Amino acid sequence: MAKNKSSYVCTECGADYSRWLGQCKECKSWNTISEFRQPKVSNKQQRYVGYAGQTEAQVQTLDTIDLAELPRFSAGFAEFDRVLGGGIVPGSAILIGGEPGAGKSTLLLQTMCALSEHMSALYVTGEESLQQVAMRAKRLGLTAKKLKLLSETSVENICHIAEKEQPKTMVIDSIQVMHMADIQSAPGSVSQVREAAAFLTRFAKQNHVAMI
Ligand SMILES: [Zn+2]
Repeated sequence: MAKNKSSYVCTECGADYSRWLGQCKECKSWNTISEFRQPKVSNKQQRYVGYAGQTEAQVQTLDTIDLAELPRFSAGFAEFDRVLGGGIVPGSAILIGGEPGAGKSTLLLQTMCALSEHMSALYVTGEESLQQVAMRAKRLGLTAKKLKLLSETSVENICHIAEKEQPKTMVIDSIQVMHMADIQSAPGSVSQVREAAAFLTRFAKQNHVAMI
């Protein structure tokens, strides 16, 4: 049985080390290295399941692979669809980046409001309160009665709720504030963001949810 392994990650630059160091060799920052525990064996096995969008990995020969295009669905904006390569792929994870105030939350709220008209859509807000999100929707003149909203920053709780709600698409706003109980470092640190993003991506693939 594999032992629980720890690795050490610089929260400033993301450099990996096999042991703890006072100073990061890469970015020279002091006291930025924090322990990053590898998941326990049971979790570890689960960790590698689902990356290919299947519950169990299988070897296939090249000629048996279905070449039919994955059915994409429109995000509701032609330009957004174009950036996404023709629309949103179920089970995919999409990362939207941009400066504060660039309009990420506004774009995603508009998108989710439109999508919620014809599919189950969940908007998870970790930065703003539900009231703030509702006020923005009102300001934008969005009338989406069916959009589901959740204010939560625990990745485990979000996935637990999403398993019950079964959304076809969900937004995590934003990955920076998400955290996992297993990881000791602060939300926003490299190890938290990395693990939270990996967990959510896995959830998206296993449950065929488009995760933004
Ligand atoms: Zn560093």
